[in-house]
Amino acid sequence: MTKKTNALPERSQIPKEKTWNLDPLYRNISSWEKDFKSLDSLLADFMSCRGTLKKSAENLKTAFGKNDALDRCLEKVHTYAHLKSDEDTANSANSSRLDRVTAKHSEIEGETAWLEPEIFELPDSKLKAYLKSPCLSFYKRSLEELLRDRPHTLSEPEEKILGLASDALSTPYKAFTMLSNADLKFPEVPDGKGGEVELSHGNYTKLVESQNREIRKSAFTAMYGTISKYRNTFAAVLDGAIKTHTFEAKIRNYTSSLRASLHEDNIPDEVYTNLIRTVRRNLPSLHSYFELRKKVLKLKKLDMYDIYCPIVPDCEMEISWEDACRYVRESLEPLGPEYCRVIDRALNERWIDVLECRGKKCGAYSGGCYDSIPYILMNYNGTMNDVFTLTHELGHSMHSYLSNKKQDYHYARYCIFAAEAASTTNELLLHAYLMKKFTDKKIRLYLHNRLAEEIRCTVFRQTMFAEFEKLIHEKREKGVPLSADELSSAYFKINSEYHGSAIEPDDKIRMEWARIPHFYYDFYVYQYATGFSAAMKFSENILGGDKSKLDAYMKFLQAGDSKDVLDILKDAGVDLSKPGPVEACMSHFAETVSHLKKELTGKA
Ligand SMILES: [Zn+2]
Repeated sequence: MTKKTNALPERSQIPKEKTWNLDPLYRNISSWEKDFKSLDSLLADFMSCRGTLKKSAENLKTAFGKNDALDRCLEKVHTYAHLKSDEDTANSANSSRLDRVTAKHSEIEGETAWLEPEIFELPDSKLKAYLKSPCLSFYKRSLEELLRDRPHTLSEPEEKILGLASDALSTPYKAFTMLSNADLKFPEVPDGKGGEVELSHGNYTKLVESQNREIRKSAFTAMYGTISKYRNTFAAVLDGAIKTHTFEAKIRNYTSSLRASLHEDNIPDEVYTNLIRTVRRNLPSLHSYFELRKKVLKLKKLDMYDIYCPIVPDCEMEISWEDACRYVRESLEPLGPEYCRVIDRALNERWIDVLECRGKKCGAYSGGCYDSIPYILMNYNGTMNDVFTLTHELGHSMHSYLSNKKQDYHYARYCIFAAEAASTTNELLLHAYLMKKFTDKKIRLYLHNRLAEEIRCTVFRQTMFAEFEKLIHEKREKGVPLSADELSSAYFKINSEYHGSAIEPDDKIRMEWARIPHFYYDFYVYQYATGFSAAMKFSENILGGDKSKLDAYMKFLQAGDSKDVLDILKDAGVDLSKPGPVEACMSHFAETVSHLKKELTGKA
């Protein structure tokens, strides 16, 4: 076991094999500069297509190709600058390189905005002919997607006005982040180590997970006590954001804000409403999970601050990087030798930046572009959670790797709706593997509890948010002003229904809506719940050993954006237009809770 010290090492002190190798992306800065410079000529090349689209299908094909060449180079240049900057955020050469690309990016975005409007200006008959033209057959999907947008695209001057207004329309979100992150000052609260600490959004989660009830209670009370002092301001900014969503939906001829948001990935409203209905139907198993929690914590009633602390002792294993790689590698074996060969490359050929060091970006992500390795940034600390993070990010990286390999650049990029399914599938495979590997009761309990918490947070909680979001948009669409009272009472009602009678209705939770940044990205969070449900089905299929189901999963990973995401998932055996996958996830939750109950109380 290695002794942990507090001082972070410098990047130069990290062993080379634990850093990512960016050389295959750019050998040196001068080759990056060369590509950066070439953006201007690629832009000029694409701009030369302007005004030519009506002449021939061939011209449109050329424009698509030149646009892709420009984007592809921009992504490559951007990827390097961004990865390099995350290695050491304090390095000014790195950050100025990133600033240059970001500025270039918006310049290019502004200049190239003519393509869609010019296509929309083509007469119907011409567009129909183009759609049938063999020379455009590769771009047929893109053209059809553009046509799907046409009824929601305004005239050029109107679009220009909207474009100019977009900065002003984003003010509510900016005001929210300023209020929440810069202006809000929280009091000091007990830190659980005998001292006091200034409460922050960052340390709140840790404090509210404390085994000491007084600690979590004071963090909770201080959080919502502080937020509620600004309740009217929080309500005004959220109302402003919702108004922006409803305004844009209306002006672009959508029937609702929900429709406007789901339009992009061509998701029918039923996927959203089915999710809410199915989760609602299964709330009794969430309630029984809370009953169990109440029993284990030996409390008469749970308060809202009692739902986060772990109910099983922490799994205090320190897992070496080598063991983590071995667990992950072995857990992914059911995906077949081809998948595992690439995983071996990821683990052995420096695709991953493993260790924390001074100035390095915190957290974890999978990042890269069409012309790079799908890199992973981590801050590996040896916890079981870190092992799950590793396989999660590898899930994203493999999705990128396989889509990039199979698809042309034009159709390689998958959407968020599909992304979490691939990463969560890996997590569920790791869960199954560890459950088989470890017979130790403590570890098994930890794993059961971990899974139950994952489903509670990713499926139940996000669906609760999705339901609240839908409700407040509908209220706004009917002209109901979203005052603090209106928002709080709507939130409190939904929150009480989701949490059930094991929990004491605590008035302070009325303000929770004010803390959630996701309410500013319209109808985003439901994808966590659908993604998790899809992953559950995928992992069952993979572990079932049916070769055809495994092949279907591989096709999903290779599909990129070659089809609508719901169709891609359906081809792979997950039909999210029906309640089945979410229903199955709910049954899995009920099973996990009953395992936990049996092991913790001895009763089934
Ligand atoms: Zn992810």
